[in-house]
Amino acid sequence: MKIGIVGCAGRMGRTLVAEIEASDGAVLGGGSEQADSPFIGQDVAVLAGLKAAGVMVGADAAALFSVCDAVIDFTAPSAAPIHAGLAADTGKVLVVGTTGLDADQQQAVEAAAARTAIVQAANMSVGVNLLLGLTRQVAAVLGEDYDIEVIEMHHRHKVDAPSGTALALGRAAADGRAVALDDKAQRSRDGIVGARRAGDIGFANLRGGDVVGEHTVIFATDGERVELSHKASSRGVFAKGAVRAALWAGGKPPGPYSMTDVLGLD
Ligand code: NAD
Repeated sequence: MKIGIVGCAGRMGRTLVAEIEASDGAVLGGGSEQADSPFIGQDVAVLAGLKAAGVMVGADAAALFSVCDAVIDFTAPSAAPIHAGLAADTGKVLVVGTTGLDADQQQAVEAAAARTAIVQAANMSVGVNLLLGLTRQVAAVLGEDYDIEVIEMHHRHKVDAPSGTALALGRAAADGRAVALDDKAQRSRDGIVGARRAGDIGFANLRGGDVVGEHTVIFATDGERVELSHKASSRGVFAKGAVRAALWAGGKPPGPYSMTDVLGLD
């Protein structure tokens, strides 16, 4: 499968190039960046710390979709709907790892999935997708007297908070309790906020250094605390998952798919 990467000069973009170059079932179809990127015209593989591959960073995402079987998007929330539209127009597989999409951007991605196969996940690692299932189960078993808090830590460059994964974990906990996360989420606390409301699902976000991604879901009650944690120490786990998702989606009918589908975890 010929796989292209939009945002190929970013942290995840470079990791994806290395993952595709190391993978058996995939070949690098090309990479694109924003038109004003200083990396346009540079060798995609060299940017990823590899030997030159003769594949240069382009500025035309439409051209990239036309020559690839699948495209992987780890870019920015504003770019994801544009790439989803291109995937739908060309009938190519799209894997969306970008997080922080607002409701309109998310709706645009889902509308495009009516016309082509799109795999989207806030976290592409096998471990986090297992953690989502465990969080749902534990929340279903433990009652409202267990307070749920989701803590995440990421590197200093991350622009959205809480992380997409933290929100997905909150949603999994809410699903387990058969409530809507929007009704229960407590996304920040500052000052005299009063006592904790029963049933809330709280979030705390830490930023610093080069932390790749750490998430813990805490279930705390009088006398005991259950904690489910995942720590990613390399972006490679997300890239591996994204390439696996692209290969899995090849030949699938149009539709929105998740990593749960890709990994057969349901
Ligand atoms: P980054 O800023 O290092 O890279 C993003 C790249 O996308 C940049 O090079 C930027 O120039 C490029 N870009 C932005 N708009 C573009 C456009 N319109 N066309 C082409 N390129 C464009 O960020 P990152 O750390 O690589 O993370 C990217 C996204 O992936 C973030 O939303 C992050 O939260 C998410 N992420 C998801 C997972 C997951 O498993 N789903 C894992 C890690 C990061």
